[in-house]
Order: sequence, then C-alpha cells, then structure tokens
Amino acid sequence: MTPFAYRSAANCAEALSLGTGGDVRFLGGGTNLVDLLRQNVESAAQLVDVSRLSGSIDETDNGSLLIGASVTNSALAAHPLVRSRYPMLSRALLAGASAQIRNMATVGGNVMQRTRCVYFYDADGARCNKRQPGSGCDAIGGFNRYHAILGASQDCIATHPSDMCVALVALDALVHLDGPDGQRTMPLAGFHQLPGTHPEIETVLQPGELITAIELPPATTATTNSEYRKVRDRSSYAFALIAVAGGLEVVDGKVADVRIALGGVAAKPWRAERAEAALRGSPATRANFMAAAAEELAPAQPLDGNAFKIGLVQRTIAAVLTSLAGDQA
Ligand SMILES: Cc1cc2nc3c(=O)[nH]c(=O)nc-3n(C[C@H](O)[C@H](O)[C@H](O)COP(=O)(O)OP(=O)(O)OC[C@H]3O[C@@H](n4cnc5c(N)ncnc54)[C@H](O)[C@@H]3O)c2cc1C
Ligand code: SF4
Repeated sequence: MTPFAYRSAANCAEALSLGTGGDVRFLGGGTNLVDLLRQNVESAAQLVDVSRLSGSIDETDNGSLLIGASVTNSALAAHPLVRSRYPMLSRALLAGASAQIRNMATVGGNVMQRTRCVYFYDADGARCNKRQPGSGCDAIGGFNRYHAILGASQDCIATHPSDMCVALVALDALVHLDGPDGQRTMPLAGFHQLPGTHPEIETVLQPGELITAIELPPATTATTNSEYRKVRDRSSYAFALIAVAGGLEVVDGKVADVRIALGGVAAKPWRAERAEAALRGSPATRANFMAAAAEELAPAQPLDGNAFKIGLVQRTIAAVLTSLAGDQA
C-alpha cells in the first residue's frame, strides 16, 4: 500500500476545500476504500475523512426523509420511519455485509462502493479495463457467474454490488451533492453509469464533489407494501447473484402502482421500467408478473456463466410481487 496523509473534516466546507486538487479521496467507513488501497487497486496521496459530517435522518415538512451521507448502514436499517414506510430499504441494508461492516459503512460510501469483480481486485495478475483502461477484460470468457446480463459492454460486464442502492432506486431516491461548482440534486437512478467504452467512469460525480445526503420522497402504499429479496450462493455474508426490490399497490384486483428494481444484473441498480409499464392497470396475477418480468429481460445478453440469472430474476420478480399482492393476486 502506498503511504497517504489523513485529514478529518469538521464540516462540509472543510471537506470540500481539503478534497480539491490532486490525488485526494473522501473516506467514509473505509470498509471498501481501505481494502482497495491495501490491494493496490487504488491509491491516494490524501484521505479526507467525511464520516463525521452529516449523521442525521430527518423528516422534512413535506414528508420526505433526508438521510445524511455519513449515516451508517446499521442506523438507517434500524430507523423506525425506514422500517415502517420503506421496509424494502431496511431489508436491503440488512441483507448486506455483516453487522460489524454495517456499523462502519456509511450511506455515501455504500453508493460509491466499487464492483466485486474478482479480476478488478487482482491488480497483479488480471486484465481489467475498469482498473487499467485499455488493458482488456478477463471476466469475458472467464469467471462471470456474478456478472451483468443487462447494459454491459464489450469492455466491461461488471455489476454494481450495493443492496441499498437497489432499494433506493425503486423508491425514487434523490442524491444531494456539493462540490467546487456548488450544490445539485439529482435522481439516484441517473447517478451510476453503464460501462460503454469507459468502464472506469462509474458515476456522474465530478472531481472533488461530495455526496451530502440521500432524500426519500414521501411514502406511498407501494413503498410501504414493499420487500427486498436477495438470492446468493451463501445465506449470509455474500454479495447478490441477483436481487429484487419490489413495491406494489393493488386496487380492485389491478396494479395501481408498482416499483421494481434489480440488483446483480448490471453496472448500476436496474429500474425495471418495462416491467412496471406492462403491469400498471393490469390484473395483479402471477402470470402477468411473469410476463412483465420476461419483457424486462428480453434485451438480456447473458454469458455462459450467468445465463441462469434470466430465469432466476423472472421467478424472483414474480415471487416478490405475488407475495406483496397477497389475497388480491
Ligand atoms: C466482506 C464484505 C462484505 C460485503 N457485503 C456486502 C453486501 O452483501 N451488500 C452490499 O451492498 N455491500 C456489501 N459490502 C460493501 C459495503 O456495503 C461497502 O464496503 C460499504 O457500504 C462502503 O461504505 P464505506 O462508508 O465504508 O465506504 P468507504 O470504503 O469509506 O468508501 C467507498 C468509496 O466511497 C467514497 N465516498 C465515501 N463517502 C463519500 C461521500 N460522502 N461522497 C463521495 N464519495 C464518498 C470513497 O472515496 C470511496 O471511493 C461488503 C463489504 C465487505 C468488506
Ligand atoms: S468485468 Fe469490468 S471490472 Fe471485471 S475484469 Fe472486466 S473490465 Fe474489469
């Protein structure tokens, strides 16, 4: 590991002034960044610790929930308003990592965590366009069980590893940013980028820009009647093979509102817009859930190692929505 300087920021303004220029990285809980530094996948001249900045969760006047970027994954999962109004988010967080890691990991760091592609972490031996642009991609034709079936490119087939972000995208979360050019707010759904020819560019975050908060719009029936289901090789302490965040409102037997986002299928949390559009106004039946899921997955381009994901995602979407529909299915 290359030596680096460490500074702890007392407030956002100080973090931004310390975070400009050169080889500076913001540090949340360190549960991903420190591993990356240790394994020489990343390097930094200076770390600016932002884990003590905005650690509160506040309800706004219009009923939104404003979550500071340094709130820990544990605190967010346990918050009473998250558990009651946005249960898919609480369950997604609790499906991730271990209790010890969730106690350290922050919301900002979770959004920014890097892929778990094994070749990305093998800085000494593997070719990886994300780590070293132009070097190639050993996952294509290699071990790609965990890799993308949607939105991948010929340069990178990595998936985004976050459970939390899948639920946040299904909940229409906004991300608040502050940086050298001022503050801005945008949908989290547009924050992570598909790889294209530049897999090294993963988000729209600009140099020196800081995530300050995540905002959840006011709860609805579909956010309250919601679930997160993660399928993995081990029953705990494992990243998702695939995951489904689902929310549903059924009125008179028909789908009035539906939220579906997928994890483990793409380089970003994947909002299943095609499936949602197919379902709105349709009878809330398992057959329709299966058909809508198939429509979402029609553009999938699997590889030998991950073709199983297509059927698995389809069945998991149908299972989640059928469970949420309850007696009305
Ligand atoms: C063994 C293990 C198992 C895991 N299993 C899962 C799992 O099943 N599901 C899952 O979702 N995750 C899992 N994780 C990942 C874990 O959730 C992330 O490591 C964690 O969320 C990162 O948060 P952090 O605060 O520690 O980030 P850090 O490691 O501190 O930082 C990560 C990145 O975010 C950047 N950053 C941090 N804060 C900000 C900010 N405010 N603004 C801008 N950039 C920022 C850093 O510069 C760095 O690039 C696992 C991790 C480990 C080690
Ligand atoms: S899939 Fe992406 S992260 Fe993995 S080796 Fe290929 S380029 Fe690197």
